[in-house]
Amino acid sequence: MDDRQLQTHKLETQWCRVCSRLKAEIGDSAYENWVKPLKVSQLEGSEVNLAVPSRFMRDWILANYLDRLRELWHGENAVVQSVALSIQPTTQPIKMVKDQEHGLKERVLATPAAKTAPVAKPSVWQSNGNIAAPLDQKFTFDQFVVGKPNEFAYAAARRVAEASSVSFNPLFLYGGVGLGKTHLMNAIAWEILERDPSRTVMYLSAEKFMYRFVRALREQNTVDFKEQFRSVDVLMIDDVQFIGGRDATQEEFFHSFNALVDQGRQIILSADKSPSDLEGVEERLKSRLNCGLVADIHATTYELRLAILETKAEKMAMDAPNKVLEFLAHKITANVRELEGALNRVAAHTQLVGRELTLETCHEVLHDLLRANDRRVTIEEIQKRVAEHFNIRIADMHSARRARSVARPRQVAMYLAKQLTSRSLPEIGRKFGGRDHTTVMHAVKKVDELRDIDSSFAEDVELLRRMLEG
Ligand code: ADP
Ligand code: MG
Repeated sequence: MDDRQLQTHKLETQWCRVCSRLKAEIGDSAYENWVKPLKVSQLEGSEVNLAVPSRFMRDWILANYLDRLRELWHGENAVVQSVALSIQPTTQPIKMVKDQEHGLKERVLATPAAKTAPVAKPSVWQSNGNIAAPLDQKFTFDQFVVGKPNEFAYAAARRVAEASSVSFNPLFLYGGVGLGKTHLMNAIAWEILERDPSRTVMYLSAEKFMYRFVRALREQNTVDFKEQFRSVDVLMIDDVQFIGGRDATQEEFFHSFNALVDQGRQIILSADKSPSDLEGVEERLKSRLNCGLVADIHATTYELRLAILETKAEKMAMDAPNKVLEFLAHKITANVRELEGALNRVAAHTQLVGRELTLETCHEVLHDLLRANDRRVTIEEIQKRVAEHFNIRIADMHSARRARSVARPRQVAMYLAKQLTSRSLPEIGRKFGGRDHTTVMHAVKKVDELRDIDSSFAEDVELLRRMLEG
């Protein structure tokens, strides 16, 4: 290892420790939402630089966690006196374009006129103080490909959009990232507005809801803030898993929610988990969320992926051989967003070089993406590796045995499952013999603690992690 690598390695290790301390202080969900997306970039003099994916996150971290981060880091490494945040949108070119789009758009949402309007210039889209986010013109029902994994959610969304009176309240859509939640919510909004342009529909992300609420609190004008919500016919809040853990925001959300339901207004929410599985959310809110219609979007199947690719390729008037589409549907399994990204990249490439689209081109253009998809670790793999490493039977990962010799490796496997996969705590629990999510939470905490006090244990875990990631 040369000096630079060593330096980076040290910094990473310090960061890991700072993270686990902070996580213990602020809780799992706040940690996942705000701290985990940060990346260490370098140590310059006495200042550590962290990369943060968006301006909004930077402001939030600045306001809430930065001081503590600095203290903790100083505790790990006395050289560090300050922590700086720089905005670095995600490195994947396709995603970046999307992020930029989202970053630029923010405007009043009241009529469907924008659907037919030409794409506005960034200045027009910029913030005018209104809280709603714009709808995406591409996200309509007719652009949504329906298959087994999403047919129920689709039917529920259609029903709510077409109903003349409130039928299910709230409609709660949930599923993993990139599976079409935002798409369906936008589609509902378009449909409602098309049927009756006089209705007011407000669509926004839960992050923005929280952010604005905290700001309103600070500026002491929560009355205006509340008014904005309570005067709409349809309120849509996307990604409500972000509301967990913030008591004041939850409180406000709960009251706005009840007020709207009492007035017979439609509420539509989305999250990456079911209401019962939301972390850091109060029971009374969970049970309110469960009262309406809860519809989940399952992971894509090969058939759905292929159908989506065929539809999109046709729309782009792209001359893609079946073999290529089948290959992509087979290989890019993570979610629809990645699938779309892959198709766009391949399309852009063939257009640029003006050559026929072949399997070889796919391999060439998508090598990074294909590798990432190959390398995605599964819980089963983690269980297998960890069992081998500690010399226990794989069956013990699922068994009820509590002897330390099997319980500890099981905890390590749960810990790694949490770190290396995007599975939620309840999902992980299910894969470990149907254990409760609190058991997984406990395992994660325990392993974190042990890593701090037992360096050989810490090395074991680190080794396993590298093996699984490599
Ligand atoms: P989520 O909000 O669940 O993370 P999105 O709604 O943003 O996911 O979907 C990611 C991308 O995939 C979007 O561009 C969306 O149009 C597309 N997409 C997802 N599901 C479908 C589908 N069933 N048919 C067509 N496009 C889809
Ligand atoms: Mg979304």
